[in-house]
Amino acid sequence: MSMRIGYGFDSHAFKPGVPLVIGGLAIEHPEGLAGHSDGDVLLHAITDALLGAVSAGDIGTFFPPSDPRWKGAASHIFLQTALEEVATAGYRIVNIDTVLVMARPKIVPIAGELRERVADLLGVKPGEVGIKAKTPEGLNQDHVAVAHATVLLESVKLSDPPAQLVATADVDDEIDEVVKGLVGESRDISALGRKRPAFDTDDLT
Ligand code: MG
Repeated sequence: MSMRIGYGFDSHAFKPGVPLVIGGLAIEHPEGLAGHSDGDVLLHAITDALLGAVSAGDIGTFFPPSDPRWKGAASHIFLQTALEEVATAGYRIVNIDTVLVMARPKIVPIAGELRERVADLLGVKPGEVGIKAKTPEGLNQDHVAVAHATVLLESVKLSDPPAQLVATADVDDEIDEVVKGLVGESRDISALGRKRPAFDTDDLT
């Protein structure tokens, strides 16, 4: 089984008059986050961590800010694309850990709800998601929301090999029996110029 890690970072400035959405959760607050999309700093960091883990570029690769289609877009659309990239590469999430850095609003009172929402969007259990919050002490960044995210992925096991390979294996077994009957030992198929198909369930990327 192979494993991969990914890391993502994002920041958005607070802006009056727009709704605050973090981790896909609408949060009661006088200011929201400025951005081309809904400014969901946490989902952007997670999206980048997922894409980075499978070497699929970053959020800007798929959703350039210059594209008017993503103006005001809900960021779970970006996350969904990253999850599809992870699945296509043959991986699944083991766990994810995040840090939010912002002066206000306080995250601790909503951390449980936030964790459940993010887990739901990722299709994992809440126990596989970490949400931690810090205030930007000494950074002079009280007007900014920052998010960091790390993700661990593992390769998806294929329990059943493709039918064609099963058939090949059956034929090989039959030939083995015939050869054993004739010469009293197993044959070396490579010596006969035949190769078993290369198939490594741990490397599907
Ligand atoms: Mg962003």
